[in-house]
Amino acid sequence: MTLAETPFTAQCFPALDGKVALVTGAGSGIGRAGAMAMARHGAKVVVTDLDADKAAQVVEELQLEGINAASAGLDVTDDDAVSAEIDKTVKTYGSIDVLHSHAGYQIEGNLEQVPLEGMDLSWRLNVRSHFIAARATVGHMRAQGGGSIIVTSSNSGVQYDREMIAYATTKHAVVAMTRQMAADYAKDNIRFNSLCPGFIDTPFNAGFETQMGGRDKLERYVAKTIPMGRWGTTDEISDSILFLASDMSTFMTGHALVIDGGECI
Ligand code: NAP
Repeated sequence: MTLAETPFTAQCFPALDGKVALVTGAGSGIGRAGAMAMARHGAKVVVTDLDADKAAQVVEELQLEGINAASAGLDVTDDDAVSAEIDKTVKTYGSIDVLHSHAGYQIEGNLEQVPLEGMDLSWRLNVRSHFIAARATVGHMRAQGGGSIIVTSSNSGVQYDREMIAYATTKHAVVAMTRQMAADYAKDNIRFNSLCPGFIDTPFNAGFETQMGGRDKLERYVAKTIPMGRWGTTDEISDSILFLASDMSTFMTGHALVIDGGECI
């Protein structure tokens, strides 16, 4: 049983009891797993996603476990909506202790193949949306004495992928931006770390699967390319989310935490 699956108990560490967390892109995949893990470990979680129904389903699943959480539809490219949801969270629950700014976008292709709209959307989602969400959050965190902001990058933020120029460059940029924010806000006890997963089997990889020429070829690629020879699971990533969100990582800021089965070694 991974840490993420462990039910919260008073003795459970890392405890997030009494903490308030907001997660974007949390209706599926890694964001969903991280939101559920934080809720199981005692946090009051606001589960947001572009698709309000998907976010609501996550809350329903938690309710079946006897855990209360809240959901909202939220498009992270809508600056005003992001700020409003963060302000609403603080007004409703009294604080925002953890922001996991997770939603992102991947479009395959090299310099000549990526459509300009795909390049622009990559920067908007993979960099700018994190800037907006963090900007809306830091004032609240400063006033309450600190907090943890987790920004999802990728192991493509610390290595280069063939024919993935939009994805690799934006994921590098967000690692750089997270380090800059970490340096600027360390004095306010606001920690910024980027989460850098490798291959995790979620709907996110549908485009790469097409680029590879189908599921069988993708499976062979993963088996051959990843030193551990397999996909990571969403729970393996949410264990790292728990670590970054909680007091287990209080002296850690500006770090890019790579969890990729050794791919970028
Ligand atoms: P996922 O299972 O596809 O979940 C992403 C969720 O974000 C989906 O529910 C998606 O909704 C939502 N979303 C898309 N655009 C949004 C927007 N504008 N505003 C709010 N929510 C939006 O993907 P995942 O595996 O969790 O991956 C997502 C993030 O992890 C990305 O930042 C990605 O770069 C990073 N990542 C993933 C992997 C991996 O292998 N899975 C590896 C490294 C990094 P729709 O389904 O309706 O679009």
